[in-house]
Amino acid sequence: MNSLQTILDVKDQKTTAVELVTRTLETIRKKEPSIHAFITIMDDAISAAERIDRKIARGEKTGTLAGLPIAIKDNISVKGVRNTCGSKMLANYIPPYNADVVDRLLREDAVICGKTAMDEFAMGSSTETCSFGPTHNPWDLSRVPGGSSGGSAAAVASGEALAALGCDTGGSVRCPSAFTSTVGLKPTYGMVSRWGLVSYANSLELISPIAPDVLGVAALLGVISGFDEKDSTSVTNVIPSNVEETTREPGKFKVGIVREFFAEGTDERVAGQVHKALDKIREVGGSIEEVSIPILRYALPTYYLIAMSECSSNLSRFDGLRYGFHLKAKPNEGWDELYSRTRAVGFGEEVKRRIILGTFALSAGYFDEWFVKAAKVRTLIIKEFLQAFKSFDLLAGPTMPCLPWKLGEIVDPLSMYRMDIDTIAVNLAGIPAISIPAGLVDGLPVGLQLMAKHFDELSLLRVSYAYERVTHFSDKLPVN
Ligand code: GLN
Repeated sequence: MNSLQTILDVKDQKTTAVELVTRTLETIRKKEPSIHAFITIMDDAISAAERIDRKIARGEKTGTLAGLPIAIKDNISVKGVRNTCGSKMLANYIPPYNADVVDRLLREDAVICGKTAMDEFAMGSSTETCSFGPTHNPWDLSRVPGGSSGGSAAAVASGEALAALGCDTGGSVRCPSAFTSTVGLKPTYGMVSRWGLVSYANSLELISPIAPDVLGVAALLGVISGFDEKDSTSVTNVIPSNVEETTREPGKFKVGIVREFFAEGTDERVAGQVHKALDKIREVGGSIEEVSIPILRYALPTYYLIAMSECSSNLSRFDGLRYGFHLKAKPNEGWDELYSRTRAVGFGEEVKRRIILGTFALSAGYFDEWFVKAAKVRTLIIKEFLQAFKSFDLLAGPTMPCLPWKLGEIVDPLSMYRMDIDTIAVNLAGIPAISIPAGLVDGLPVGLQLMAKHFDELSLLRVSYAYERVTHFSDKLPVN
C-alpha cells in the first residue's frame, strides 16, 4: 500500500477524492464489525472530498494531502465532533475548536474519516481499557492491536484509513505500529503542537503519525510539525522532514544495538526477528555494534512515577461540572461528594488506579522521595542517551518485547506496564523514535525500533525508507 501515491493520483486526476473517501468508508463499513477501530465514523467525509474535487476541477492549488482519508485518535480535538478519550467521562463531550494539528491537516486538504478507539485517556498498551470496547488486531482478530493508539494503527493496517494520528506518551504509537506492521514515528518533544490534545502526561507525550509506509509518515510529519504559540513547549527550530529529503540515500551510518532492550523477558523469537531486520539495516549502509545504556534499567519505574503524577494532576479537571459526564446532585450533597461520586462512576479502573498512585507520589512527605527522585533519574537517562549518540547516529532495539497477546490475556497491571519496557525511555528523553515492520513470526508482526538524537527525524526517515526499499514491507497486508 502506498499512501503517498494515492494522494498524487488525486492531484493528477487519475482518481478523485470522492472515490478515495467512498472506498475508505466502504472498507470501514465492511471491516468495523470485526475490527472496531473507530468510536466515531464521519459519514460527512464525502462532502469534504467533494469540496476538494471541485477545487481540483477549478484548477485551484490544493494541499499536499489532497483527498487523503485520515483517522484521528479520539483524544485529539476536531471541532464539532465528539472527543471521548475512550472514556465514559467524555462520552458526550464535543470540543468547540480544532487541535492545531487538525487545522494543519485541513489546510492541506486531508479528509478526516473518523475518530479512533484508544485505551481510556491513553493509559494502556492494548486498547482494551477503551470504555467503548476493544479494537482487534487485523493480523489475528483474537489478539490486541497494541495501544493506546490501537484504533489508529488497526485502521491503517486494515485499509480503513490511509493514514492516522495517534499520540505517544510512552509508546502509544510505536507499540500498535509494531503490532500491526505499520510505521509509527514519535517526533522530538516540542516539534508537534499539543494544543487540542487531551493531556495524560504532558511532559512526555506528543501527537504522532502512523502510515502504511515511510513516505506517508514523512508527509504527515511535514504537515503536523511546526511552531504553535498556543503550546508553551512548542519549538521554533523545526527540521524539515519532507518527502524528497526522506528519499535521499542515507550513506554510511553507525547503529548501536542497545543491550538493555533485549533484557530478560524479551521473547526470543522477537529478538531473532529484530536481528534479521538489523541485517537489512546493514545492507543499506549501517555498521552495527552493541552498546550498553545501564541507566535504562530504571526507565520503567521512572516513567510510571512521572506519568501517573502528571495524570493525577491533568485529570483533576474532569469534575463532572465543566466537561462531559455528570451525576445529579443528591439533596444537600456537598460539591466534594458529588465530585468524587462522579469520578468513581465516570473513570474506569486503570485510570482510577493511576490517579490514586500519582496523587500519592505527589503528596507532601512523599514528593521528594518519589517524584523528585524520578525527575533526577530522568535527567540521567537524557545524559546517557546523549552520551551514546556521541558514538552512534542511531540506536536500535525491538519496539515491543513480545508478540501481540490475546485479548484478555494480560490482566495484571504490572505485567501490562512491563510491556512498555522498550518504548518509554524515548519519551523520558524527548528524543525521536520510529517503529518499522521487522517481518512476521508465526503470522504476527514484529517491530524494529530506531532512535535518533533530538531533531534528527530525517536520519530515522532516510534509513527507514532505504530499509523499506529492500524489504518491501508495505506490500504485506493482513488478512482482515
Ligand atoms: N502504555 C503506556 C502507558 O500506559 C504508554 C501509553 C501512551 O503512550 N499513551 O502509560
